Amino acid sequence: MRKPIIAGNWKMHKTLGEAESFFDSVKDRLPNAGRADTVICAPAPFLASLAGRAGDGSPEIGAQTMHEEEKGAYTGEVSPVMLADLGVRYVIIGHSERREYFNETDESVNRKTKSAFGHKLIPIVCVGESLEEREGDKTAEKISGQVRAALEGISAEDAANAVIAYEPIWAIGTGKTATSDMANEACATIRSTLADLYGQETANQIRIQYGGSVKPENIAELLAQPDIDGALVGGASLEPESFIALAEAA
Ligand code: PEP
Repeated sequence: MRKPIIAGNWKMHKTLGEAESFFDSVKDRLPNAGRADTVICAPAPFLASLAGRAGDGSPEIGAQTMHEEEKGAYTGEVSPVMLADLGVRYVIIGHSERREYFNETDESVNRKTKSAFGHKLIPIVCVGESLEEREGDKTAEKISGQVRAALEGISAEDAANAVIAYEPIWAIGTGKTATSDMANEACATIRSTLADLYGQETANQIRIQYGGSVKPENIAELLAQPDIDGALVGGASLEPESFIALAEAA
């Protein structure tokens, strides 16, 4: 049985004070912390403070990206060593906004995914098709290629702990959600790619999230699908009440 995982991706929002007060207001109000994992992927400057506040009854902490190297002359970047040292547990890798605006490629996503595992961070690897690819019937090819590339050279033991987020690009921040059937079909394609790479037993352990305009009103229907194990949520993760409602659905 896969444990549901609801992760908020705050992107470039909030001040430190707002981030801390969000955290204080959701703490101890998340339903049955043992039943589902909840994660807040916060901007890098807030990670130390939030990781210091995290504990029983609070969400775990994730970063939104990282560099693959442990240290070096990479101005502006954050290393996996720094994240692990703070107590960060998860890291989003290859979000479509990183691929689009910051030149991340399947190759860099693979290097970062390997590096995350090497530092005991759980990568949330994002894959997803553009509207053009969906309309051209290329969704399965695109997402299965991205999954294969991201996990190239990664052992089944590590892969079993990965989280894959299926995020159709046309549904992110647009208010357009994939129907639950569409989302499940894509997640099932991802699972069969994983089975091809690692065997069905490992594929059955890997959690696959859907992301793209998820909100309290539509999350239950998405999570009811057999291959959807959680959600990666942008806009609707910013307010405490909304985040609690998302967690309650899991
Ligand atoms: C995201 O940031 O990954 C995302 C899915 O955003 P939103 O929920 O706002 O569409």
